[in-house]
Amino acid sequence: MTKTLDRFNTTDELPAATTVVIIGGGIVGVSAALTLAERNIPVVLIEKGHVAGEQSSRNLGWVRKTSRHAADIPLAMAADRLWSEMPERVGHSLGYQQAGIMFLAKDDEQMATHEAWLNSVKSFDLDSTLLSSAQVDQRVPGGKGDWVGGIYTGSDGRAEPSDAVPMMAKAAIEKGAIIIQHCAVRMLSTSGGKVSGVVTEKGEIRCEQVLLASGAWSRRFLGNHGISLPTLPVICSVMRTKPMEGPTDIAVGAPDFSFRKHQDGGFIVTQRGALDAPITLDHFTVGWRYLAQLRAQRRFLRVSMGRYFFKDLALKRRWKADSVSPFERIRTMNPAVNPALNHEAMTNLRDAWPIFNNAELAEAWAGLIDITPDSNPVIDHVKAMPGLTLATGFSGHGFGTGPAAGQLAADLVSNAAPLIDPSPYRFDRF
Ligand SMILES: Cc1cc2nc3c(=O)[nH]c(=O)nc-3n(C[C@H](O)[C@H](O)[C@H](O)COP(=O)(O)OP(=O)(O)OC[C@H]3O[C@@H](n4cnc5c(N)ncnc54)[C@H](O)[C@@H]3O)c2cc1C
Repeated sequence: MTKTLDRFNTTDELPAATTVVIIGGGIVGVSAALTLAERNIPVVLIEKGHVAGEQSSRNLGWVRKTSRHAADIPLAMAADRLWSEMPERVGHSLGYQQAGIMFLAKDDEQMATHEAWLNSVKSFDLDSTLLSSAQVDQRVPGGKGDWVGGIYTGSDGRAEPSDAVPMMAKAAIEKGAIIIQHCAVRMLSTSGGKVSGVVTEKGEIRCEQVLLASGAWSRRFLGNHGISLPTLPVICSVMRTKPMEGPTDIAVGAPDFSFRKHQDGGFIVTQRGALDAPITLDHFTVGWRYLAQLRAQRRFLRVSMGRYFFKDLALKRRWKADSVSPFERIRTMNPAVNPALNHEAMTNLRDAWPIFNNAELAEAWAGLIDITPDSNPVIDHVKAMPGLTLATGFSGHGFGTGPAAGQLAADLVSNAAPLIDPSPYRFDRF
């Protein structure tokens, strides 16, 4: 199933030269383009499919600080501010609401994890609080779940991915950015060891700086230039219900389901306790870097070696500028939904909040997520390739931080004072 998305037309005319080329029209690339356009820096964003066609429209839309690594909190706090300002910047609401996020605990061990996280972020003075089981019932009435408690952050919230990123892209165009869709960037062009442009399937663009914000494709793109970015794929299946009466406006994450209200009155539901982990060739080359993560997360992963393995294997890992690249072969990564996982999520949710027995399916989809070994992104220059900056590897939580990540990347490419200290996102930490 293809995800509902606000698609729009853009120009096909490739300029001969610009200052910055951005590869990838997800939230990170689009936010960087918007920022650069507002600073009057000539920028061209190239997208192989359509803007927000991959992760940036398929995500759950959670905008959260809760449960983030402490090193990622400053970016998330900056993003909260930018989400609040975004309606004014782009002239639309984008569905952003600080309606609160709550994570539940089934046992003392899970509660201790929430408590340990709260201690780890004490210095940020967040509005997160631990909840007793009675407080969970008060905030989300009508439940039958046996929770020992939870954690709640009122300033966390949500935005609507399938509207937000296209709206931001349209605003970027109005402010002077050029966005070209259905055009893959095949390779970087270089001169004297520095980036001098990009070669696309429709011709070359000369530029001073390239920002690679190509999500799950970044590893393959960089590999062709001899640069290794460790990321591995996982697939998350999601569904949306038709508009219905629900228990709360708060987004709720339990160990084996999550739900949050959609702007049309339906709910977006997923099996929070399980992801499909298709084995690829990359598991044999960079998989060892993930051993710690694997030990901690193995019960969440449904590992398989099937269709995706062969699909991935059939895509080239090395190509030249005059040959068709993998990015033209797959314009939009549209992984198969795992109906069993969606069914599990809905069953667990109905057991916990029986009001969901009234839920009717409106739409189901899946998205492929790029995970780094420490689950944090890379937002950094590439020392081995002057003129190239990365903003990628958002590991399943880059929608919420997207506006800030894009701005930080724009700061780096334009040599402006960075929005926050970028050191947690250094490339050389791997
Ligand atoms: C099911 C699911 C649920 C999620 N839930 C949440 C959530 O609730 N909250 C949260 O914060 N995050 C969530 N995420 C993660 C979030 O969606 C991503 O971290 C974020 O969207 C990443 O944005 P991006 O711009 O880096 O990548 P993407 O959105 O994947 O964009 C990259 C773009 O680059 C294009 N591209 C790639 N290579 C080329 C090339 N060579 N030439 C031209 N174009 C190219 C692709 O076509 C793609 O459109 C979720 C993700 C999924 C899949």
